[in-house]
Amino acid sequence: MKKRMMMGAAALLAVTPLAAQQAAQKPETIRVGTATEVWVLQETSGQGNTGVLVDAPARVLADHAPDGTFPNATNAVLVRRGDDVTLIDAGYGRTIFEKMAALGIAPEDVDRVLLTHMHGDHIGGMLRDGARAFPNATVALSQREYDHFSGPGNEGAARVFEAYKGSLEMLSPGEITSPMAQGFTPIAAYGHTPGHTMFMIRDGYEQLLVWGDLTHAMAIQMPHPEISVRYDSDPAVARDNRIAVLRAVAAERTPVVGMHVAATSPGQVSDNGEGGYDFRVR
Ligand SMILES: [Zn+2]
Repeated sequence: MKKRMMMGAAALLAVTPLAAQQAAQKPETIRVGTATEVWVLQETSGQGNTGVLVDAPARVLADHAPDGTFPNATNAVLVRRGDDVTLIDAGYGRTIFEKMAALGIAPEDVDRVLLTHMHGDHIGGMLRDGARAFPNATVALSQREYDHFSGPGNEGAARVFEAYKGSLEMLSPGEITSPMAQGFTPIAAYGHTPGHTMFMIRDGYEQLLVWGDLTHAMAIQMPHPEISVRYDSDPAVARDNRIAVLRAVAAERTPVVGMHVAATSPGQVSDNGEGGYDFRVR
């Protein structure tokens, strides 16, 4: 019976494009404090390849990714507090608009976009037909990220900066900035890109960390956070910050979501007693 049901599901998959299926699904609501609703908008999910890991020992791969792959995803995060709407990263722009529509939120409703960094899988949704996808939004990112991606060879970032000219806000994590007034604290976690920034969502005494691209291969990087990926612009800095953040969120029991964590619910990091960490989705 179970097998027949699975075959039925497979048949459905064959006739309905995956993007449409994902779009139709209403994301689950995560609550932070009394007034904040959060949704992980998952645009892709599947298996990543361990070829992206830098200097992963064969023993580690055999233990944690014996078939050479690991669960992976691409996420953006939507936050609503009353009628104040914040988007953290914009994914590829494949299904976030449909997922937002399913929640009754239009692109015009977005008051601000907070960008963890300027890679294509985080800013793809910032433009539609070359124009601002979020006409009423301010866009905040770290000054370091802006400076780096304003340089030559970053056409995708340049188009976003141009489209949102006049609506950009530069963040220096550690300084008081306007997103803080709305409950978003930027936290520097450089290394994946020169200005990669996490955002802590706060409501009263509750918080949720959106850690962006702190990790890309959870199955390997939780037990072995010392292993970076080829996408990290400075693998050593990325490693040091990853280890520091994991230590902190494990000690504080801070729930987390991430842009390449294959879960749409918050996870809890805990020390595994062997120099690494466990990650459990709550
Ligand atoms: Zn990414």
